[in-house]
Amino acid sequence: MIDIASPHRLRIDSAALVSNWRWLAEQSGAACGAAIKADGYGLGARGVMKHLVAAGCRDFFVSTWVEAAALMPLAGDVSLSVLHGVGDSDMVAAKTLPVRPVLNSLDQVARWRAGGEGRACDIMIDTGMNRLGLRIEEAMGGALDGLRIDTLLSHLASADEDSAQNARQLAAFRTVRDRIPARRYSLANSAGICLGADYGFDLTRPGIALYGGIPRAEARGAIRQVAFPEARVLQVRSVPAGETVGYGAIWTASCDTRVAIANLGYADGYLRCHAGSGGAFWQARSLPLIGRVSMDLVAFDANEAEGLVEGDWIAIDYDLPEAAARSGLSQYELLTGLGARFERCWV
Ligand SMILES: *Cc1c(COP(=O)(O)O)cnc(C)c1O
Repeated sequence: MIDIASPHRLRIDSAALVSNWRWLAEQSGAACGAAIKADGYGLGARGVMKHLVAAGCRDFFVSTWVEAAALMPLAGDVSLSVLHGVGDSDMVAAKTLPVRPVLNSLDQVARWRAGGEGRACDIMIDTGMNRLGLRIEEAMGGALDGLRIDTLLSHLASADEDSAQNARQLAAFRTVRDRIPARRYSLANSAGICLGADYGFDLTRPGIALYGGIPRAEARGAIRQVAFPEARVLQVRSVPAGETVGYGAIWTASCDTRVAIANLGYADGYLRCHAGSGGAFWQARSLPLIGRVSMDLVAFDANEAEGLVEGDWIAIDYDLPEAAARSGLSQYELLTGLGARFERCWV
């Protein structure tokens, strides 16, 4: 096969990933797992798993059986759960793979009782989010009697805010814990971990904060950026004062401007909402984004980046909390939207 270099790369800082996991584990006061759904929030689930297993993480969560199958074979004592549970069409995968379903409804519980051959499962209890999970009264009504429950989970709806819903969900989860036997209990995502060790129970399930997202102010200064998108400069051109750049001619050069055109666009998940506030860096010089974002191209003002030439790599400004505030996208969307054309490069 011929070796073709991608003009897009996503530099992933494995030391920062591990450092974030260690901080979250310490805050958890419990075992700390990792949510690696959506291909490890866009970074590559396999790579994330490899580095976190080496650091001591043992519990992983994906959304679907397709995601679980892609992670086989698992290292010896690693536990993997599928958050969306089992539908009829999932039963073959669920019985074949060394992975537990997180059962979310009475139908899923019945399906696992009938076809799960007595294997262990996890259970999701809805404590107020009304998304996935058994209602508390359903779970307490005997529906779970005799099941081999490994981990009993619930999920916080508003942990990123100082909402009274957090304490209500915590109280509800404690009631469930006292009444339904399971090997372990797990409530907190990244933001939930920041709410304090009360929320830790036996196992936490951070996602976004592992990957550099700041879920709450408590994580500021502790969580490090992990994902660094970079693009190659395709052309550097001189735009005379008064001329415009790009579709719709929305940007006009106020002075003669060196403009760098980069191999990046909304097809890579670098969406049009970055126009007006996005930017990039080259050797610590700042390159403000100018004009509209195209499908595969974007223009930057390179007047400060003397010496930048065609073929150079520029680092896209992707500090997650800042980029989220600027663009109106969530930190989750910023990561999971990064497209397949980025070559994932672990450093
Ligand atoms: C995605 C997810 C998590 C991780 O949430 P973050 O906000 O990314 O930390 C934890 N638990 C469940 C059930 C999830 O779906």
